[in-house]
Amino acid sequence: MTKDLVIENGYVIDGTGAEPWIGSVLVRHGKVAAVKAEADAQAAPDARRVDASGQTVMPGLIDAHCHLAFDDAASNNEIFHQRRNALSALVASYNARKLLRAGVTGFNDPDSTFENMIDLRDAIEANIVEGPRMSCGAYALITGVGGTAGRLIGDEGITGYYKVVSTKDEIVTEVRRQVKMGADWIKVHVTGIVPRQAHRGELCVWTLDELKLICDTAHELHTPVMGHCRGGEATRRAAVAGFDMIFHATAMNDEALQALADRKVPVAPALTLQANMVDFGEALGTSEALISMFEREITDSIDTMKAAYKAGVPLLCGSESGFSLVPYGHWHYREMEVFVKYFDLTPLQAIRCATAESAFSIRKMGEVGEITPGYEADIICVKGKVDKDISLLGNPDNITRVMIEGVEKDLTPPPPRKRIPGWRLSAMGKTLTREFALGTDRTEEPFHVEELH
Ligand SMILES: [Zn+2]
Repeated sequence: MTKDLVIENGYVIDGTGAEPWIGSVLVRHGKVAAVKAEADAQAAPDARRVDASGQTVMPGLIDAHCHLAFDDAASNNEIFHQRRNALSALVASYNARKLLRAGVTGFNDPDSTFENMIDLRDAIEANIVEGPRMSCGAYALITGVGGTAGRLIGDEGITGYYKVVSTKDEIVTEVRRQVKMGADWIKVHVTGIVPRQAHRGELCVWTLDELKLICDTAHELHTPVMGHCRGGEATRRAAVAGFDMIFHATAMNDEALQALADRKVPVAPALTLQANMVDFGEALGTSEALISMFEREITDSIDTMKAAYKAGVPLLCGSESGFSLVPYGHWHYREMEVFVKYFDLTPLQAIRCATAESAFSIRKMGEVGEITPGYEADIICVKGKVDKDISLLGNPDNITRVMIEGVEKDLTPPPPRKRIPGWRLSAMGKTLTREFALGTDRTEEPFHVEELH
């Protein structure tokens, strides 16, 4: 029989949004069996005891939006053309350890190159690879208009993590194929960037009927649908069509807000990437214009996001890790800071979003994400009081224990990486004009970030 585990004297944030309390948590058979005095009373005399004095004991973080196949890519070009199938899955298994060290015990991977995160998920579930709990989509569905990579995307078939579907038959065939392959979710890029209209933001590139067809086909097979939506009309159509989870939902109008509020569709704004650009873009050499464009995506959504939350729409925390602006292991906690800073959530409310609410994204709502009897014991211990300073979670040295189903994970840092031939996009550096070479004009050309996801 598995030995009982008692985590004692911890400052427990249970993920429900309730005030923290100091006391014990009893873990038995991988689940939270009891808390507080009950935990002490029920623990077997020979229980293993762990002292968590001075530490927060809380549910592990769940990242609702993390692309583990992309390997911190700096561009879509790199993802589309430099990646290899088996190697990117192997690299992802290395990166999965960084998530664990950052206190992430579950994540949802929306779409991947070669749809190979389905394989990683199965490898993690089979104990072949150590990593967080995982759910995933396959290829992101788009129309011939494209997604966020414009002309880089082929007119048909697969490009990188995208698959173009152009007719209703193709939609039905592809949704069914992805379900057969083992996708937990169907991912749809509801909006895309049309190069000549990029200044207007992303456009909805599907009809309502097409979106309904995706949902009907997927739901018939008990598979939920998630969508990338920037802009009011896309968010409204996705909600009306029956989408189960929406990413971004920025630039909403009243109709979109109403459609979300009526159906309480969970939203993962995934604004960490934008927040990083706002705070650190200058240091990265990004142009001021681009930094303010990223900032507007957050600030333009403050009123609608607050209203959605107030209307009972669950907000989930997603980091969009997978790109160089949000490398693995560094920023999975940061969406909580965005919610507190911009959307006026309390830290405890934000922590609930990153744990109990984000469990929805891995299809484990009500099973993980709380320290409540009956829940799986996905628990982390963190030095200090996390509700007083969420950024404590940003330093892996503060994270002393990570357990999934009561099993402690190895937190030793992975060995340093070396270069993989042909893996990154190569560049010769700046353009060598004579003015630059002779030092008569060394003005920095701003670094441009192409549209990613
Ligand atoms: Zn994404």
